[in-house]
Formats: sequence, C-alpha cells, structure tokens
Amino acid sequence: MIKQFAAGAALACALLTGPAPAQAHVGDIAARYVQLSLEIGEHEDGYIDAYYGPPAWRDAAKASKRTLPALARDVDFLLAELAEDEAGADTAGDTSGSLTHERIAFLRGQLIAARTRLRMMQGETLGFEDEAEGLFGVRPVLKPLTDYDPVLAEIETLVPGEGALWQRVDAFNDRFVVPADRLKAVMDAAIAECRRRTVAFIPLPEGERFTLEFVTGKSWSGYNWYKGGAESLIQINTDLPVRLSRAVDLGCHEGYPGHHVYNVLLEERLAKARGWVEFTVYPLYSPQSLLAEGSANYGIELAFPGEERAAFEAKVLYPLAGLDPKDAGRYLALQEAQQALSGARFTIAAEYLAGRMDRATALAMIQKYGLVSEKRASQTVAFAEQYRSYVINYGLGLTMVRDYVQRAGPGQAERWRAMEALLSEPTTPADLLE
Ligand SMILES: [Zn+2]
Repeated sequence: MIKQFAAGAALACALLTGPAPAQAHVGDIAARYVQLSLEIGEHEDGYIDAYYGPPAWRDAAKASKRTLPALARDVDFLLAELAEDEAGADTAGDTSGSLTHERIAFLRGQLIAARTRLRMMQGETLGFEDEAEGLFGVRPVLKPLTDYDPVLAEIETLVPGEGALWQRVDAFNDRFVVPADRLKAVMDAAIAECRRRTVAFIPLPEGERFTLEFVTGKSWSGYNWYKGGAESLIQINTDLPVRLSRAVDLGCHEGYPGHHVYNVLLEERLAKARGWVEFTVYPLYSPQSLLAEGSANYGIELAFPGEERAAFEAKVLYPLAGLDPKDAGRYLALQEAQQALSGARFTIAAEYLAGRMDRATALAMIQKYGLVSEKRASQTVAFAEQYRSYVINYGLGLTMVRDYVQRAGPGQAERWRAMEALLSEPTTPADLLE
C-alpha cells in the first residue's frame, strides 16, 4: 500500500518543486488520464488490466460514476490540451533526456484508444481495421485467406499423410501433451529458464516475483495479472491439454521477458523513478497492448535464439514431462511454420465480427488455417467474440517488435538493449516503424 501511494506522492512533489512548465503540465494531463481511465473502467469489466496508482483515485472513480458521453468529452478535452503541449515541446527542442515528447506521444495514443473504446461502449460498430487502428495505433492489413495456402502446402511436407491437414497436425501435436500431473514441474522449469536468460541482460528489482495458477473456463491460454510492487499472478488455462511447446511460450510470454518484466520495468523506471503516474494504469484496449503482446511473443525467440530452445526442451522439459524427444525437432519446426498463419486469424475474425461469415464457417476456417481441432477452434472464436480486434496484437505486434529489435544489430547484447529500452521507455507502435 505504501508503494502504491509513492507514485502519486512523487507526482505531487514534482508538481510542487516545479520542473519545466511543459513537463509539469504533461504530468497534470497524465494524472487526469489515469483518473479518466479508471472512470471508463467502471463501465466495462476487464478494461483496466492493471492499476497500482493512488487507491484514492480508484475509490473516487467508483464513488461517482459519470456517463459515457461526459467521459468522452473529457477525453477530447485532454487530447486538445496535449496537442498544445506537443506544439510547445516541438519548438522547445527537447535535448534534456526528459522524454517529454515521447511521453506526449504515448499519452496521445492512449487517449485516442480511450475515445475509440468509448464510441464502442456507446453502441457504435467500427470496421475491423478502423477499430484496430483506433484502439491499438496500427492498421492491420487483412489478406485474403487464399494467400495463406502456400504456407499450408509447406506444412503438408512436414506432416505428410492422408486426411485433412489440420487433423494430421492436431494429432501430431497431441503426441506432445504434457500429462496433467507433470504440468507444474514443466512450467516451473520453463519459467525459471526464461527468467535466468532474461536477468542475464535486463536487471530486475530485488524481490520481483510471481504466483503461478492453473485455471479453467477462459477464452485465453494464459494471462498475466500485474499487481504492482513488482508482483504478478500468472494464470495458465487448462481447458485444453497443454502441449510441451507452450511451456517455453508461456514462460517467456507471460513472465520473462514478457508481460511480467514489461510491467515491472514500467513501474520501476517510469512510475517510481520518474514519478510518471500514467504508467500506474494499463487500459487493456490501448496501444500498450500491441507493445505488450508483441514484445511478449518476440521475447520467446530473443531468449532462446537459434537451436537453444530445442536443446533446452530436449534436455530439461521432455524428461520432466516424461515425453520422448525423438520428434522434438519436427514438432518445433511445425510450431514455427504455423506462425506464418497468424494473419489468417485476423481475416477470419474480421469477416466473422462483421457478420460476413457465420459461426460454423468461422470455426471451419480456423480449423483449416489454424490447423486445430474443433475444440481449439471454438476457443479461438470465443476469444474473437470477447476481445475482437485485440487479436492483431499477437501476430502483428510480434512482427513489428522483431523488426524493430533486429534493426539494432545482429548481436544478442544489442538486441536485448533495444528490447529493454522498448519495455522501459514510453513507446508507441509508430516508434517501432522508425
Ligand atoms: Zn499476452
């Protein structure tokens, strides 16, 4: 609790002792952005993914629930104020390392997302691309499904045989299901290794920690709930049998260097060290999610470059799971090949959500282009129904973060440095394209 007050106190202190006027004003807008986000959150469960700022602000949001149009007017007002500050920051030429310009750009993206979500909450239906761009700051390119047929043809060669390709792939992948009574040991070992590889490059605050829980009845396969104070709750959904490759995937994605690390760094380096209160709140439907999902997915290959993942899985995870690593290479190659199909999921979601594709067809298309059983396809459809265009953050976020980090150079150290900066400075999707 004391730590939760600290960020607010630091902000108040910064305002009183008087940094540059532009910065102080941005701090004021940031505080109002947080309060407004909490108010919007009162209208939609799950809108606020994490909050560890002043508890009084959350209490205030709960105590006086304002209407959606009133909240939308405030968002517009803050955007207008921010535009004035931006003009000021531009002419001033920021060379002080204060990151004021980056901070303004970040806040603008978050506020545009809030405005978009408020339109949706008031019953407006946006086209898939418009919705994605408004919420996540990037416009996805939706390719026709037939564009993915060459990828399917390539995967055919990995899993040859009779019957539908999805059936063969699904049956092959099912050979790698981790027995339920060994799942915890496998997950613990994978997360520990993801953590070991991450802290070798990114220093984390002492005492950072997470709790691991197994849950059921969710549309996602894993979730990181950030609690503040460098602590996360990582939940793994066991509705469907968990296959071996998910251990490293989830360990990196939800934990290290994924969501847990992202949140820890934002709290430690921005909310606490700089007193930037806007990082104490994380609205789920915002450009932050493109950064979060993209970096969490890219973190897997950053932490396990080249053959290192196969080697670790064969040496440590297969024995723990009691599985034969004989076909491990082919299994991993198949997972990697399937990545190239992630865009098909956007197209199917867009068609389905617009009512141009019925549920049965959407299920069949997800089976065909996602190479999964009907049960797994149902989970994907449920995810699209619940989170809509959020789905772009995984595949598109991965590509954008990967391209950005790899531009830093071929060395591991320089790539980790680029990743660390991305995770611990105000970053927008547009920054990744520069
Ligand atoms: Zn995620």
